[in-house]
Amino acid sequence: MSFKYNKFNAQCFWCKRTTNPHHSYMHETIPIKTLKTPKGRYLELCFSCYENEKNKAKLSKVNFKKSLDEKIETIKILGFNFNKK
Ligand SMILES: [Zn+2]
Repeated sequence: MSFKYNKFNAQCFWCKRTTNPHHSYMHETIPIKTLKTPKGRYLELCFSCYENEKNKAKLSKVNFKKSLDEKIETIKILGFNFNKK
């Protein structure tokens, strides 16, 4: 799995972190992975959120990317903003 390092304006969609959580790399932006969901959304997740979501999907035996769409839809229902790119 490849993560992008030092991406300008990188921000994790779930936890909203923008800086690298590792102390030695605090001056860098957060390493993120861009995922495309089955419904055509682009999500940028940091390493820990990516691993979390993947494990949760695995545990509940659901499709990982489908579960992301479901989560986004739940967020939308709750009234948070999601900007489609
Ligand atoms: Zn995150």
